[in-house]
Amino acid sequence: MTAHVVDGKAVAAEIEAEVAAQVAAFREKTGQIPCLAAVLVGSNPASQVYVRNKRRACERAGVNGQVHTLSEGTSERELLDLIEQLNGDPQVHGILIQLPLPPAIRASRVLDAVSPVKDVDAFHPENVGLLAQGRPRFLPCTPHGVQQLLHRCGTAVAGKHVVIVGRSDIVGKPLAMMLVQRDSPLGPSAANATVTVCHTRTVDLARVTREADILVAAVGVPRFVTASMVRPGATVIDVGINRSDDGLVGDVDFPAVSQIAGQITPVPGGVGPLTVSMLLHNTFQAARNQWEANG
Ligand code: NAP
Repeated sequence: MTAHVVDGKAVAAEIEAEVAAQVAAFREKTGQIPCLAAVLVGSNPASQVYVRNKRRACERAGVNGQVHTLSEGTSERELLDLIEQLNGDPQVHGILIQLPLPPAIRASRVLDAVSPVKDVDAFHPENVGLLAQGRPRFLPCTPHGVQQLLHRCGTAVAGKHVVIVGRSDIVGKPLAMMLVQRDSPLGPSAANATVTVCHTRTVDLARVTREADILVAAVGVPRFVTASMVRPGATVIDVGINRSDDGLVGDVDFPAVSQIAGQITPVPGGVGPLTVSMLLHNTFQAARNQWEANG
């Protein structure tokens, strides 16, 4: 079997166009332009690329994008002061702290300081709690991208066994929380999955992954998922982004797994572009929520 290769770029462009239309209508109605403030500390080259891509996506969707660049030696106090200023700025609707932060700064302290109503990454404990209870304020961008990709490709997750390899707070855990709910903004077919979350202490991982109707790899290890770990015909979603001598590679051994899977996302061009689209979506939603709350 040769898998259908899912075109993440096309799905992302579709969502971006939808957000751009919502932003234009919102601007017409309220005179306001949604604004995302990205905070970049230090000079990590990958982070610089991510922030640049996010700023360009904002421009395409008609969203104002601010970038606050701070030096590597910035103190935690200075960063917290900037966040406080952005929290209080009515022109800023969404705040994004680009990770990783320098080791001297406690990421949890910083992420907790972002106002929950401007927390477009959905990392704040209040937003994580709301998601867990099935009444999210914002959906976290990468898991939401995975859910949108499945939905828009016609793959219902309801009743399916979804196996996620990886239990990070950014991908694995929130994706599991989203897919296991009774309902979702995309309807019940995009939720109601039976979800298994795997990690380094999972015993006989390949036996578990072979039971998946939908297998999600969020491991951070290049080509970790091999063909022997995949049930023939399964849907394989590769969240991984790993830099190697061959360029960007995913967490799935694409050449071998695409011979056995039913559908598969490539890297690059799979989940990655969706993350940025969902960030724009959340920024628009933040602006709309704040306008509705404050007039
Ligand atoms: P992470 O925080 O490093 O978590 C990795 C997870 O994989 C951990 O739960 C870890 O288990 C598990 N794991 C690692 N090695 C394993 C093994 N040998 N067997 C079983 N489980 C194993 O990574 P992350 O932030 O979730 O990111 C995962 C990947 O997605 C990375 O490649 C990252 O670059 C990419 N990513 C992409 C996007 C996007 O926009 N597409 C966004 C975020 C992340 P333990 O918990 O037991 O250590």
